Order: sequence, then C-alpha cells, then structure tokens
Amino acid sequence: MTTFTYDGLPGRIVFGAGATRTRLPGELDLLDAQRILLIATDTEGALATALCAPFADRVAATFSQVRPHVPVEVAELARKAATEAEADLVLSVGGGSTTGTAKAVALTTGLPLVAVPTTYAGSEVTPVWGMTDRGRKTTGTDRRVLPKTVVYDPDLTASLPVELAVASALNAVAHCVEAFWAPRRSPVSSAVAEDGIRHLVAGLQAIEASATDAADAAARSDLLLGAYLAGSAFAGAGSGLHHKICHVLGGAFDLPHAQTHAIVLPYVLAYNAPHAREATDRIARALGRTDIVTALRELGTGLGVPAGLGELGMTEADIDTVVDDITAIAPADNPTPVTGDGVRALLRAAWAGSDLGETAR
Ligand code: NAD
Repeated sequence: MTTFTYDGLPGRIVFGAGATRTRLPGELDLLDAQRILLIATDTEGALATALCAPFADRVAATFSQVRPHVPVEVAELARKAATEAEADLVLSVGGGSTTGTAKAVALTTGLPLVAVPTTYAGSEVTPVWGMTDRGRKTTGTDRRVLPKTVVYDPDLTASLPVELAVASALNAVAHCVEAFWAPRRSPVSSAVAEDGIRHLVAGLQAIEASATDAADAAARSDLLLGAYLAGSAFAGAGSGLHHKICHVLGGAFDLPHAQTHAIVLPYVLAYNAPHAREATDRIARALGRTDIVTALRELGTGLGVPAGLGELGMTEADIDTVVDDITAIAPADNPTPVTGDGVRALLRAAWAGSDLGETAR
C-alpha cells in the first residue's frame, strides 16, 4: 500500500538555451525589481555583467566576495551590501557557492531571490541554506531562501571546465539515485529522479564520447535539465545513507567531495538494491541497463573517477574510525538495515574499488 506526504515547493522555472538573454529581463520585471543586488564571483563577473546589460540601470550594487561554503563573515558582508544598496531583489549568477551566498541574504532580509545557475549543483531549487563558522558548517531549511524564479540557460555552462562539469553532474546523479530511498521520498520525487538520471547520464555519455569539448549544446541542455530535476528530487526527498556516508568521510579525511560521491554511490546502490526493488527497476529503466551497479561504476571510471577511496588517500585503517559515526546518523528506514558490519563491508569494498558484480539485484 502506498503512503506518503509530499510537500510541494513553489518557484517559477524558466529553461532554455539563451534564456538569460531573452527571458531574464522580463522575469525581473514580473517581480518589479528596481534595485537589484547582483551576486557573482569575479570568475563569472564578465558573464554576469553581460547578461545584466539590458537592465544595468537597475543593478544597484554588485557583490563578488563569494567563498565556498558561505563563511558567516561573507554572509554578513553580502547582507550589508544589500542594505546599503537598498536592494529590493537579489540576483545570483553562478554555482552553488554563489546561490548559497544569495540565500544567506534572503534568509535574514526576506528579499526575493532570482537565481541563474552556472553549474549542476541544484541548490537553486532547494529551501536549504548552509553557512560555515570557523570551519563548522551549519545548514537549515527555510522557504525564504527558495528563489522566486530560476532561469536555466545551458549556454552559460559552456565555459565549465570538463572536470568541474563531470564532478558537478555526477553529484547530481547521486541526488537522483538517493532520492529513491531518502526519508521524504514520494512518488513525485521518484518520478523526477528517474527522469533526472536519464538526462544526466545522456549528457555525461556525450562528454565521455567527446575528446575535445565539455559537451555540445544538446548535451549541456540534458545536463542542466538533469541538474534541475536532481535538485528538485533532492529538495523533496532529502538526503539518505549515501549523503550521510559522504558527509562523514568528507569531514573526517578531507576527501574531494565530488570524487567521493562518485566512488561511493555504486556501493550504496549495491547495499540497498536487495531491499529496494522498485528503485532498482526504475534506475535500470533510466540507465537503459539491468546491471545498474556496473553501469554506474563504468560511468564514473569512463569519466576519470578513481576506482576506490584508497586512491583518494584514505587508508584501510581509517575505515573503522568512521563506522560508528555513519551508523549513528544513517536514516532509520534505509531499505537495507544499516549495521556496523554492513557499513564496514560497504566501505572496505568502496575503499578497495572491488568489483561488485550484480549479485545485489
Ligand atoms: P561553486 O559554486 O563553488 O563553483 C565551483 C567553481 O566553478 C568556482 O570557482 C566557480 O567560479 C566556477 N564556475 C561556476 N560556474 C562556472 C561556469 N559556468 N564556467 C566556469 N567556471 C564556473 O561549486 P558548486 O559545485 O556549484 O556548488 C557547491 C556548493 O553548493 C557547496 O557549498 C554545496 O554545499 C552547495 N550546495 C548546496 C545545496 C543546497 O541545497 N543548499 C545543494 C547543492 C550544493
């Protein structure tokens, strides 16, 4: 018997190649923005200035001191910039760090937010904010940080270096796969996640096939659409065992975020698969393969992801030091019960990069 609670999130999505040129000014008009605080890093500065040219007279101030993981000092500076500029709207142009800085402003000022994402992070469709204070990250959920409008323009991701595009897109795949068993999963988040995998994998395969370019226009469109769907699935379903494992590993051993996700995901899939029949069937449908664990591993290694966590510098002895931390925060309703022995075996395999076969299905 199906039972679920689905809390739909508001937000207007405008998607299409060239949408920042053709649609962004009109979207800002709809929100009656007269004094805009533009948030963009120096890297995205030229791009942001160009797309703001049609409404440059309404950009009251620009904030570019974005830092990864939104340090509280940066959040304060951005809020001060909004107040001094008497801003009536915040426009973010950039990746998850830029969106996160804009969310920090919206959180305390209540200003409406319009997001123009340039990576596949997906933060722009979640009500989750995050900030770091002296190295410690705090996150929270508040609808004030959810952008009123998101303008997705695949043209803007053309400048993404291949490694960044791959890392960001594989992270989005993890959002989708995890959405099938995360605590707030619903038929809506599962449907969105399944389609998200389909688009992301199509885009990633195009990158793999192309030796010279990050992706052509069609692949970029697939990747950005997949990223939107992944962010939406994640916003609805929340984070499950996979994200908890990566969170603990990242914090304990300072492992590279995207590579850790890409390595661990097939092992979590293999762990859960025996007790997640519907999820595995849907993932198989999205991937177009029945050997889904192998398919995910091949996708990663084909794109340069190391086979095991050992290659990222983690030692075998490290495994035992994190097992308890993972079991302590693992969701109680994970499809396969999360035990110390189970997590240890999963981590050993992920550390060694062992071949999992498909016995799990
Ligand atoms: P990022 O925003 O830090 O960007 C990474 C780098 O890519 C930066 O140097 C940036 O200047 C550059 N860049 C961005 N777009 C580019 C483009 N089109 N061309 C060339 N370079 C470009 O990284 P990210 O992966 O986008 O975001 C990661 C952050 O987002 C993390 O802090 C993560 O916690 C957060 N996040 C939050 C949520 C949420 O729901 N709150 C969801 C996902 C991620």
